Formats: sequence, structure tokens, C-alpha cells
Amino acid sequence: MTAHAPYPHLLAPLNLGFTTLPNRVLMGSMHTGLEDGRKHFPALAAYFAERARGGVGLMVTGGFAPNIAGWTKPFAGTLATSAAARRHRVVTDAVHAEGGKIALQILHTGRYGYHPFIVAPSRVQSPITPFKPFELSARGIERQIRAFVRCAKLAREAGYDGVEVMGSEGYFINQFLVTHTNQRTDAWGGAYENRMRLPVEIVQRVREAVGRDFIIIYRLSMLDLIPDGSSWPEAVQLGKAIAQAGATIINTGIGWHEARVPTIATSVPRGAFTWVTKKMRAELRAAGVTVPLVTSNRINTPEVAEQVLADGCGDMVSLARPLLADADFVSKAKAGRSDDINTCIACNQACLDHAFKNELATCLVNPRAARETVLIIKPASSRKRVAVVGAGPAGLAAATTLAERGHAVTLFEAADRIGGQFNMAKRIPGKEEFHETLRYFGRRIESTGVDLRLNTRVAADDLIAQCFDAVFVATGVLPRDPKIPGQDGPNALSYIDVLAHGKPVGERVAIIGAGGIGFDVAEFLVTPPGHSPTLDLHAWLAEWGVADPAEVRGGVVRPKPAPPARRVMLLQRKAGKFGKNLGKTTGWIHRASLAMKDVEMIGGVNYERITPQGLFVTYGEERKDGQLIECDTVVLCAGQVPLRELHPPLQTAGVTVQLIGGADEAAELDAKRAIEQGTRLAAAV
Ligand code: FAD
Ligand code: NAP
Ligand code: SF4
Repeated sequence: MTAHAPYPHLLAPLNLGFTTLPNRVLMGSMHTGLEDGRKHFPALAAYFAERARGGVGLMVTGGFAPNIAGWTKPFAGTLATSAAARRHRVVTDAVHAEGGKIALQILHTGRYGYHPFIVAPSRVQSPITPFKPFELSARGIERQIRAFVRCAKLAREAGYDGVEVMGSEGYFINQFLVTHTNQRTDAWGGAYENRMRLPVEIVQRVREAVGRDFIIIYRLSMLDLIPDGSSWPEAVQLGKAIAQAGATIINTGIGWHEARVPTIATSVPRGAFTWVTKKMRAELRAAGVTVPLVTSNRINTPEVAEQVLADGCGDMVSLARPLLADADFVSKAKAGRSDDINTCIACNQACLDHAFKNELATCLVNPRAARETVLIIKPASSRKRVAVVGAGPAGLAAATTLAERGHAVTLFEAADRIGGQFNMAKRIPGKEEFHETLRYFGRRIESTGVDLRLNTRVAADDLIAQCFDAVFVATGVLPRDPKIPGQDGPNALSYIDVLAHGKPVGERVAIIGAGGIGFDVAEFLVTPPGHSPTLDLHAWLAEWGVADPAEVRGGVVRPKPAPPARRVMLLQRKAGKFGKNLGKTTGWIHRASLAMKDVEMIGGVNYERITPQGLFVTYGEERKDGQLIECDTVVLCAGQVPLRELHPPLQTAGVTVQLIGGADEAAELDAKRAIEQGTRLAAAV
């Protein structure tokens, strides 16, 4: 093992008998949307080739349906004909040219599909699509099995090194396993032996069809996180049967999509579910089953990966989003340059949220992800002197991209540290990962040679006097002034007072504004300092009601949240749903988390005045005296406006100037837009 320092377990090869993987990193399946149209295949090839070049042991594509019934949505990527297989050659050839290995994921969605042709073991609608599935006849089941087998054969024909059979996350195969979705009384329902027949037959028949020297990964749902999910003995029985049926590797699946427990969001502790794979591995090894197991979810640094492998949690680790964030994760780890890794912060904002909105996925911290053919960072044709003002996400992305391209870059920052608003974001319980982005940019500033001037609030005249060839104004935002009478009193604070300046906050708090920052401030205020459950796995599991599946079927019990640190009320003027603009895949987590802490959400209010007693509000048109919301502190989180005072004088002086990030547009600003814009415009100078 010492031959593979500094991460001996992670970097050790894995012998699969007929082939050897160079290390223990599996790039887990991640749907980018590039799978869904043949016009995207060259981009898909470039995306995987870059990650193969980065040294990943084995990659798995996003899901491809084996037939129309298995589509995630109409016209989703499907592999059902030889003509389709030929189109995949561009992907497999590109990966093999880089010395990589790639498996195709076969994904049949069953009742989770978002189209009218969905099928399932029983006619039980899922809570996450509006379509009711058709119940399959026995012949219909046989047709689905044949579709899996055909898809695997075509994957081999297309040059893939293997397939992954998606058996978890509540998709088609999973739906056969539990009685809630499988109410059949024939040979495919009833006793567990019958319910597990489908996955076992699929793996057996795929193995017969593809031969011995082809990787079959089976994604096994080890913890369903739904009330009537599989029991632990059932999951173990299936694991053994799948290995016996011919699987080369068993991957871990955690939670059905309809589960009400977060499984990969940034507030989930790192490695939160690796204990489940460890438990399964112990069961299989005790029974003499030696199939390698992959452990998964929230493993985002080489250190965490090494630790979980050293702890016996698995034989490989699955990293999906971390390889979107940094294609060179493995090669940097190998070179002992873990500090240079652009760490996935598990925000879901540009990957899963995009996928769920039918947009092509990319990455908040790496806007080149899945855009490798269009966002190209190449050396500048001539070296220019460029000033970047503001070291928030937009300015950091621009400055380091410009310097990487060979420009001479001076980065001015008024504060004593880089990061801008990320310095507030990282203080929110559940957003600790945001530290990593600042660590990464700190290293990038050093390695690209950006001249960083901290504690320097630069003025337009200074910039004009220094005759830069171009200036990027990345000065961010100011809090919006909501103009509420009494807001200058001692009991009214801005989010900056609370998060950046640590001003004391009372026992009862009203938060004005329920946008992203209002929600985050509420989370901050209900959590006792130093008690973020994200940093305490046991507390987090209790808070979300995750139990040992060996004790409770499905592994879910009643959540036991810690009591809130204070009483918080979150207010907005509109009458609609709270947190409507939060992330598609994470908004529900923020709402559930605040509900657990008894945060009261009050909508449709007019803010009348702030007095020493609290906040007076009215509702609707009737705006008389108002009703008192008693509180000690009012926190203003009423949105933001651009700070771009440097722009007009620079323009007047004829300086070439680019506005980026919040300075350009504050409405619906987030770090995804700030980093993408900073990178894209810097790539074009
Ligand atoms: P800023 O981050 O505001 O940076 C501007 C910088 O310019 C500052 O450092 C400032 O000191 C500097 N500056 C200003 N004027 C001058 C001058 N004249 N000279 C020198 N320096 C100057 N976004 C997400 O995408 N996801 C999240 O989960 C998320 N959570 C958040 C949580 C909180 C609590 C907060 C406050 C924000 C959060 N955001 C989140 C928003 C995100 O941080 C912003 O969208 C992003 O920081 C905007 O980047 P920016 O570079 O445009 O501006
Ligand atoms: P925001 O999301 O636009 O929310 C502003 C809130 O203030 C809204 O609830 C709005 O609701 C209220 N408001 C607007 N004008 C007001 C006024 N004049 N008086 C009183 N209330 C007013 O902005 P933000 O919360 O400041 O967040 C800034 C940006 O950071 C956002 O664009 C967001 O994307 C990003 N961010 C993202 C996350 C994340 O988790 N992804 C977290 C934090 C921040 P009403 O008009 O109904 O009152
Ligand atoms: Fe990770 Fe966020 Fe990038 Fe997705 S968008 S890969 S969660 S950093």
C-alpha cells in the first residue's frame, strides 16, 4: 500500500480478474443532459475524456433507458438499437484514447418517469410525477428484462467496458422490491424471493449475454429511507444473490427520490452514509462473498475518501459531483496536491437543479464542467495589465482565469480577506463546505501569480492613474434599504451585522425578507453556536430520523431535532410559498429544517414600523395602526442592489471596463452566475 502514498487505499489498483482498475475512484453516474440528444455526444465525449485524463479509475455515464417505457422524460437518452450504439463510439473512443474505462448506466425509471408510458409492478402512482403507471403483465415484465439485456449487449457493441444496472433510488427495479409499490400476487410479488426475482434475473441474463470479461455494476439500495422500505435482511439477501448472479461490483444506493431525508445536499455531513456500505460489506464477507463494494454520498476530498476506505467502508468510493467540480481530482491527489482540488460544495445549484429543470448540468465552482467544448481557457495572444476590483466569487474567478491565461493581474479587495459574501455564507450551519471554495481560490491566486492587494478599497481615480489595459468591476452588492420607519433603532440589524460583525441578537427575532439570505439567517439564529449538525453525524442522523436499517425497516424513524436556540419568525410581503426561489432540489430541505426548529413563516405582510416593542405589520389594503409582532431584534434581509460606483467614472475616462457578478446585476444573483460570468468574460480578454 505504501507504494501509493499519499493515499494508499484510494490509489491502490483494484484487480477485477479480467481487468484491473488503476485506483479506487468510481465516477458515479450523474445525469448532465448531454445524454439526451445525439447532437451533444461530441461534448459528452470531451467531458468524459477530460475526466479519464484526470486519472479516474472507472466512470459511469448518466442513465440511458433500455426502452421507451424506461425513459426519465420524453425522448430521454435511450440505447435500444445498433444505430444508437454506433453513436456512442465517439464517447468510448475518446475515453479509451485517454487510457480510461467507462460503463454505461442502464436506467429504467418505472413509475418515476415523467411521461404517459410509464410501467411498474403495480398501478401505484409516485408522489413525484403526475403520471400513473401501467401495471405490467408477466409478459410485460419479460419484455423489460429483455430490454435490459439488449441494452447491455449494445453497450458492449458500443465499446463500453461495462454497464451499471440501476437498482436503487426508487427506480423500476427498486419498485419490485418493496410491498408498497409491488402489490402483485403472481410470481413477481408476495414473498421477498418473488419480489427480488427481477434484479437477479436481469443480472444473470445480462451476464450470460455479455460474457465474463465485461464489468457489471449493480447499484443496490442499501437504505431506502422510506417507511415501508426493504428490511436489512432483505437487502443483504439481495446483495448475496446479485453477486451470485454475476455482478462484478456492487455500488451503494441511499434513499428513494421520494424520501424526506436529504442524502447528498451540502448540509449532509461528509461520508454520512458510508457506515451502511460497511455494514453490508461485513455481511457479505462473513458469507464468503468477495465482490468489491463501492461506498458513496458526500465523499468530496481525497482525505475523506482515504479514511472511509481505510475504515473498511468499501473497496471503492463513488465520486460524481466532485469530478464535475474538478476533472483532475485523482491526478492532483496522486501528486500530493490535494490543496489544489476545486472541491464540490454539494450545493446542487448547477448540477442536480439544472437536471431537474431540464437544463444541461454544469458546476457552480467549475463552469467548464460539461462545457469543455465551448468554454475554452487558452493562453492570451498578448499579455495585458488587468485590474480586478473585488475578491468575491466573481472577481476571484475572473482574476485567476485571466492570470492563468498569462495576463498581469492586480486584484484589489477592500476587506482583509478574499471571498466577499462567501465569508458570510460559510458561517451558516450546513454551509461549512463554502470554506473549501475560498481555500481553493486562495491557492489559485498563489499558483497563477495574481497580485492580491487586501485592505485596499480602490477608487476610480487610482485605477485611471495606473493605466490598466482593462478593469473588471466585481464590487458586489449593497443590502437593499427597505425604508421601514424605525429601522435605524438599536433593535434593527442587517444580515451583515449579524453574520459578518457578530452583533448580539435577542431571544425573539423577526426576519424581514424570506429569500436565500433570510432563510440562511434563520438557520444561523436557531442553531446554538458551535452545534451545526453537519459537523456531528450522530446529531444529524437523529435530527432527520435516520436509523440503523437492521433495527427499523427502511431506516427511518421520527426525527428528533435539537431545540431551537431562539424563537424566529420569517416574514415576506408576498402571499405565496416560502422559499419559492430556493434550489429545486434543496428548497424543501431548508423549509423542513426551519419547520423542525419551529420557525414561524408569516406571509402577505406590510411592514409599518419598528419600535422598541418589536415590528408592526398590517395585512392587505387595510394599513392602519398595525399588529405588533413582539420581538427583541428585527433582522433586515430585504434583498440587494448592485454596487457599481466605479463604473461611470471609468467609462468616462475611456477605460475598457467589464461589470461582473453582483456589480452587474443583483437580481437573482448567486455564486453560480458570478463565477460563470467572471470565468467566461476573462476567457475572452
Ligand atoms: P461579493 O461576494 O459581494 O464580493 C464583492 C467584493 O468586492 C467584496 O469582497 C467587497 O469587499 C469588494 N469591494 C467592493 N468595493 C470595493 C472597492 N472599491 N475596492 C476593493 N474591493 C471592493 N450564493 C449561492 O450561489 N449559493 C448559496 O448558497 C449562497 N449562500 C449565501 C449565503 C449568504 C449568507 C450570503 C450573504 C450570500 C449567499 N450567496 C449564495 C450569494 C453569493 O455569496 C453571492 O451571489 C456572491 O458572493 C456574489 O459575488 P460577487 O463577487 O458578485 O460579490
Ligand atoms: P432575495 O432572494 O431576492 O430575497 C429578498 C427578500 O426580500 C424577498 O423575500 C423579498 O420578498 C424581500 N424584499 C424585497 N424587497 C423588499 C423591500 N423593499 N422591503 C422588504 N422586503 C423586501 O435576496 P437575498 O435573500 O438578499 O439573497 C441575495 C441573493 O443571494 C439571492 O439572489 C440568492 O440567490 C442568493 N442566495 C442564495 C442562497 C442559496 O441557498 N442558493 C442562499 C443565500 C443567498 P417580498 O418582496 O415578498 O417581501
Ligand atoms: Fe458540486 Fe455544486 Fe458543482 Fe454540483 S454545482 S458539482 S453540487 S459544487
